[in-house]
Amino acid sequence: MSDHGGLHPAQPFPEAAREQVVRAQLRANLRKVTHTIREKRANVVGELPQWEQLRTLGAATKDASLANLSDRLLQLEQSVKARGGHVHWARDAQEAREIVARIAAAHGARELIKVKSITSDEIELNRALEERGIHAIETDLAELIVQLSHDRPSHILVPAIHRNRAEIQALFNAELPGEGELPDDPAALAAAARRYLRHKFLTTKMAVSGANFAIAETGTVCVVESEGNGRMCVTLPEVLVSIMGIEKVLETWEDISVFMELLPRSSTAERMNPYNSFWSGVTPGDGPQEFHLVLLDNGRTNVLADDFGRQTLRCIRCSACLNVCPVYERAGGHAYGSVYPGPIGAILTPQLLGMHDKNANTLPGASSLCGACYDVCPVKINIPQVLIYLRSEANLQKGLTAEALAMKGMKFVMSEGWRFEGALELARVGQGPLVHGDAITSLPGPLAGWTQVRDLKPFPKEGFRDWWRNRPAPVDAAPPAIVQKAEEGPVPPQKKEGGQFDAEPPREDTL
Ligand code: SF4
Repeated sequence: MSDHGGLHPAQPFPEAAREQVVRAQLRANLRKVTHTIREKRANVVGELPQWEQLRTLGAATKDASLANLSDRLLQLEQSVKARGGHVHWARDAQEAREIVARIAAAHGARELIKVKSITSDEIELNRALEERGIHAIETDLAELIVQLSHDRPSHILVPAIHRNRAEIQALFNAELPGEGELPDDPAALAAAARRYLRHKFLTTKMAVSGANFAIAETGTVCVVESEGNGRMCVTLPEVLVSIMGIEKVLETWEDISVFMELLPRSSTAERMNPYNSFWSGVTPGDGPQEFHLVLLDNGRTNVLADDFGRQTLRCIRCSACLNVCPVYERAGGHAYGSVYPGPIGAILTPQLLGMHDKNANTLPGASSLCGACYDVCPVKINIPQVLIYLRSEANLQKGLTAEALAMKGMKFVMSEGWRFEGALELARVGQGPLVHGDAITSLPGPLAGWTQVRDLKPFPKEGFRDWWRNRPAPVDAAPPAIVQKAEEGPVPPQKKEGGQFDAEPPREDTL
């Protein structure tokens, strides 16, 4: 288990993606769900004329908090402690796992319930607890499906997006005790999961949650969710542990209001989120009587230290960028090899792990740079620009590769017209044996990859420069209308009846 937990991709992205894109059923499942959510999102976002201003405000609010992050976190710590809670600081995944395991051991917990678990997936909490004989039960329906099938989440919002109904029916029939043979009906499947989880909510003494936001001035932690399972987790057990990335802190209650508009419309395409749970420390006789907040760094301070990459920490994990990404739609979440898939994963994972990580630094290549992710991001993270920035960082890490040498050669050739034309002439002659009909279907050596899935057009016999030089000079050709008009000069203002001008005549000093 690495210190960075579930962040680390086991393979470079191109290798992992190659294994995933051949799965037709996976592509069909992904396409169906992402297109449905993206259309709904576009509709509800279109209802708000001030959406662009909201995005700007969201970005500015997060930036302001990040600019004073250490002060905000210390303020949060004081506020949580003042309300009877405990605060723990975890430098990496291992420290965070140890903290949660210690709390569980102190209470003799053999089982705990979980909600909003992406940060706990980041630290691989379930596996660490299992090794100590503590079973963690996911209570989000999609997370439960992933857990029962011993799978990994492949989407931030819809972790079981890669599973269809028939697969879930078979899984529940095999894994949910005492339910008998369940029908292929979403309502019946959801009801079976509800019965199973309700029993767990009422009998489990400890819960672990993630956090969407925390408010420094009051020590309030917030979980935003759709099913009500989060509300159960943060109110019913006796002990509650919340694990939160340090970038989630906001300063004031006013700050959170903008995200209550931005988040539901961007993630589930709803105008308002169904369940928003807020809690501040402990309240005697009401809710958990012991509350622990684990503040997780795990590479975030490195991202914060990078002036350009820092905007990545604005992310509110809405997953809108996943739903519009053509690469995610075809490769799926598992291809990213980390708990953070899609465009946000392509920039967050390599920065958290460091660009020296040989697998993570291939992730910025997982994009067509179409810009759709930037257009939908509610906090205006310029993902395409960060991708380009990280690609250049990755190239620096690689040193003088064959690709870098080829680029240097291209720069040398293209920086002088005569060199470029000479190279074109050579290419025209050299391509002869490779041209079949009007295409090059197979390139030799290291260039072979280009023609594995596409044909190349051969260089034309006459290039543009030759054509331009050799074209017959235009004889007595009338200039285009727009040129004629410009040559005629400005039309003077016309006098109307009664001696009035249509417009102010141009003053001499402006002519
Ligand atoms: S990067 Fe933007 S669009 Fe993507 S998950 Fe984060 S907030 Fe949402």
